[in-house]
Amino acid sequence: MASATQHFDAVVIGAGFSGLHMLKSLRDKLGLKVRVYETGDTVGGTWYWNRYPGARCDSDAYIYCFTWDKQLLQEWEWSERYPEQPEILRYLEHVAKRHDLKRDIQFNTRVTGAEFDENTNLWMVHTDKGEEVAARHLITAVGTLSDTNMPPFKGLEKFRGKWYHTSRFPHTGVDFTGKRVGVVGTGATAVQAIPEIAQQAKQLIVFQRTANYCVPARNGKVDPELVKTRKADYEGIVQRIRESFFGQEHYFIPKSVLEATREERESVFDRMWDAGGFAFWLANYQDMFFSQEANDVCADYIKRKIRSTVKDPRTAEKLIPKGHAYGTKRQPLDTNYYETFNRDSVQLVDAKTDGGIEEITETGIRAGGKEYPLDIIVFATGFDAMTGPLKALNLRGRAGRTLTQEWHDGPHTYLGVAIAGFPNLFTITGPQSPSVLSNMPVSIEQHVEWITDCIETMRKSGKTCIEATPSAQDQWGAHVNEIVSATLMTTANSWYMSANIPGKPRAFLPYLGPEGVGGYRKKCDEIAAKGYEGFELA
Ligand code: NAP
Repeated sequence: MASATQHFDAVVIGAGFSGLHMLKSLRDKLGLKVRVYETGDTVGGTWYWNRYPGARCDSDAYIYCFTWDKQLLQEWEWSERYPEQPEILRYLEHVAKRHDLKRDIQFNTRVTGAEFDENTNLWMVHTDKGEEVAARHLITAVGTLSDTNMPPFKGLEKFRGKWYHTSRFPHTGVDFTGKRVGVVGTGATAVQAIPEIAQQAKQLIVFQRTANYCVPARNGKVDPELVKTRKADYEGIVQRIRESFFGQEHYFIPKSVLEATREERESVFDRMWDAGGFAFWLANYQDMFFSQEANDVCADYIKRKIRSTVKDPRTAEKLIPKGHAYGTKRQPLDTNYYETFNRDSVQLVDAKTDGGIEEITETGIRAGGKEYPLDIIVFATGFDAMTGPLKALNLRGRAGRTLTQEWHDGPHTYLGVAIAGFPNLFTITGPQSPSVLSNMPVSIEQHVEWITDCIETMRKSGKTCIEATPSAQDQWGAHVNEIVSATLMTTANSWYMSANIPGKPRAFLPYLGPEGVGGYRKKCDEIAAKGYEGFELA
């Protein structure tokens, strides 16, 4: 404590969507002294780092934005249904400027660790600039998909060409013109990047370990009349998405797909397919997530679409997912993804049929005993999701305990926003909250509002310490697991299940509440209304 150079009411780590809103709320609503630390040289977080070709939001932009700035909701004009990364970054820059947020953000600064001081109830926060500051509250706004997963491919150091990970793409861009390019991975990121890279590259080889179910994004300009209608109804929209299951205007069909006639369900599937985006995933028959038989019917529709789009039957078969139920992995949105495999310059190397990646050589990738010569390799291999970015902060709670110790068998949290043994720490969209299973800005706003109210209540009542009790945390963990175990989600080797990183303990990372984000919001509000039930305040 004695060594702290500055004292803040709150330190916020990260200046993406969540950090910007948290700063705005604590500083301008509560009048607190806040410092935000950000590793990047400007705002944006996820949208600062993920600059790979084709990066764009997967939720409709009219709800992928801050809803607390009512005037901006009316003023801001998105250029298309799913804007590209530079446009989202421009939006966040605009918000930062409009609300004068940058004056409280220290850029180019990484938080290297923080310890909770049990005598003073303050967090001591350290940065890579050698600073040590004290803060009553520490709030992580580090994103859920920000800790890069770069698998330790044998021989990578020998590769004489260039290689990049999608989540750390050069800010100057990469010119693929005339190059032989390899893309490793076929998740939501690769599905966006592959069609873009294929347009430039002389040759593109896609290394697929697991085929995914992709549905059309149907990006494009939004009809100006629809934009007008939405702007006139923003209050209604905001209320609906806040109360909805996924923070989207999508609602399951409350009926079994098995009860629908063939004609009826085909017409529903066609409608979802034509609507594009997450409709096929989140506005489908509800038993799709619970019954394998129901799921097979939905999956079969997508398989037929793949076969009718991809001209070479062998490639089409490789692209047909096998071994996981539809919807149990994050839905990738496709803009010419399947069509891209009809280009003569594009080849698919599938681990199951052609053999997996054995090593990176000086001149390319060796897979299934065959060498594929490459000039550039793009790794779209994802993230150590949700727990990774928090563990990387080197936080020490009571008795110097670390998150790595506390979470050796998977995350343990209360509501995904607090952790027993880590008082005065709040984790925006942390593990075991709806987070990645929702439209992120909706969940971010809910957490920011709840944290702000909590800190305000503490200050009004003179409390300096709030901490989740171990029993409330255990009950929450049991609830999270009980709910998800009734679904097919646990059967997939997805990053939701922590299964993408070898050795990561298998655990479902987000919260799939019975009523989604709307029900979760109610639950959090009830807990606050009961004097922060499950927390100890001192
Ligand atoms: P991902 O879904 O984890 O996909 C990673 C890909 O790399 C998978 O195909 C995976 O295969 C493969 N892979 C991983 N390790 C490998 C290895 N050692 N050898 C060979 N292949 C390997 O990651 P992502 O595509 O970056 O997407 C992560 C999440 O980011 C998405 O699910 C989504 O939530 C988010 N995202 C959002 C947007 C948006 O909203 N605009 C866009 C893109 C991504 P397996 O499937 O076999 O593990």
